[in-house]
Amino acid sequence: MEISHRITNITGGGSDGWDVFYRARRMIADGIAVLELTIGEHDIRTHPAILDAMHKAATSGHTGYAMVPGTLALRTAVAARVQARTGVPTTPANVLITPGGQAALFAAHLAVCDEGDTALFLDPYYATYPGTIRGIGAVPKPVQTRAEDDFQPRARDIAAAARGARSLLINSPNNPTGVIYTRDTLDGIAQVCRDHDLWLISDEVYDTQVWASDHISPRALPGMADRTLVIGSMSKSHAMTGSRIGWIVAPEAVITHLTNLATHTTYGVPGYIQDAALFALDQGPWLEDEVGAPFRRRRDLAQRVLAGQTAVRSVPSDGAMYLMLDIRATGLTGEGFANALLDAEQIAVMPGESFGRSAAGHIRVAMTIDDDRFEAALTRLVAFAQGLIR
Ligand code: PMP
Repeated sequence: MEISHRITNITGGGSDGWDVFYRARRMIADGIAVLELTIGEHDIRTHPAILDAMHKAATSGHTGYAMVPGTLALRTAVAARVQARTGVPTTPANVLITPGGQAALFAAHLAVCDEGDTALFLDPYYATYPGTIRGIGAVPKPVQTRAEDDFQPRARDIAAAARGARSLLINSPNNPTGVIYTRDTLDGIAQVCRDHDLWLISDEVYDTQVWASDHISPRALPGMADRTLVIGSMSKSHAMTGSRIGWIVAPEAVITHLTNLATHTTYGVPGYIQDAALFALDQGPWLEDEVGAPFRRRRDLAQRVLAGQTAVRSVPSDGAMYLMLDIRATGLTGEGFANALLDAEQIAVMPGESFGRSAAGHIRVAMTIDDDRFEAALTRLVAFAQGLIR
C-alpha cells in the first residue's frame, strides 16, 4: 500500500542535522554525564497555581467538548492582550485557540497556501518549518540571512525570492539565533509583503522573552493587519509546553475558515486547559517574568563569560532562550565543533547547520540548565574553542 507523498515527504529525506543530539542522548543512556544545552524547554515546570486552576476547572466539570475556536473568555483575554501589546484593534473574532504554536503554524499555512504554492521562510529557522510547509502540500523556499548582518534579514533578499510566492514565515524573537528583528528590518519585510501581495505568518511564541531591544509585532505596521497571521503560544511564556495551548490572531475571515478546519481536525482544545491558560494570562506580567528570569540571568552570565576573548563570538542574543555562537575562528564547521565538544567535554550543543545553511560555522546553545552548570559548561566551551586555535 502506498502512503501519501504529502506525509512521507514531511521530513524531506536526508539528514535532519540532529545527529549530535541523538548521539548525546545515546551517551546519556549509556551512563555518561553529558551537559545538554540542546533543548528549547525550561528547566522549571508549569507553575503550581496554573495546575491548581487546571485541576479546579476539570473537577468542576469542564471536561466535555469545548467550543471549537476556543472559549469566549480565553479568546477575549488573548484579544485584549494582543491589542494592549500592539495597539491593533483585536476582538475574539480575530482569535483561534489551538493545541500549541506548532498546530497553529500548520493551520496558518493551510489557510493561506494552496497545494504547490511557494511558502517562504527565513534561514536559519526553527527546525519544523520546512516540514510544516511540506505537510500542507506547499513548497518551502528558504531565504538566507547572513552572519555579518547578525541574521537580520534583508528585504532585498526576500523580494528576490518573492515572485510567485504566497506567504512568508518569520520568527522574532528568533529560534535559533535569539535575534530580535529591528523596526527597520520589519518595515522592510512589511514592504515586501505589500509589494508582492504575500501573507505574513509571524511566529511570536517568544514575545515575552525580550532581554534587550523591543519586540515589534509586524501586524501593527501600516497595512499589515489584513495580511498577517500571528502565532502565539503559552509554551514558552508560561512554561506550559506539555499543555499544548496557543493561538492564531488573524483577520476575521481567516479565523472563520480556520474554525472550520479545527472542526475537522482538532475539534478544539480541552476546556480545563483553556481555563488554566486564562488563569495564567490573568496573572499579568509577574508570572511571565518569573518564567523568563532564568534566561535573562543566564544571558547576562554568558556575556560575562564571553567577554575579553575572541575564539567564540556571540550573535546579539536579545531574546528567547538561546545563544548563537560563531565558532568559525576555530576553523571547524558547527557540526565538527559540536561533535568534538561532545567527545572532549561531554557538552552537547546544536550545530548551526541543523537550522539551515545560513548558520553554518555556528552553534546554538540553549540556556536551559541551572546557572552554575550553565556557567561551567560555557567556560569549558570557550576554553575548548581557544585550545583549537592555539
Ligand atoms: N515556534 C518556535 C520558533 C518554537 O521554537 C517552537 C517550539 N520550540 C514552536 C513554534 C512551537 O511551540 P509550541 O507548539 O509548544 O507552542
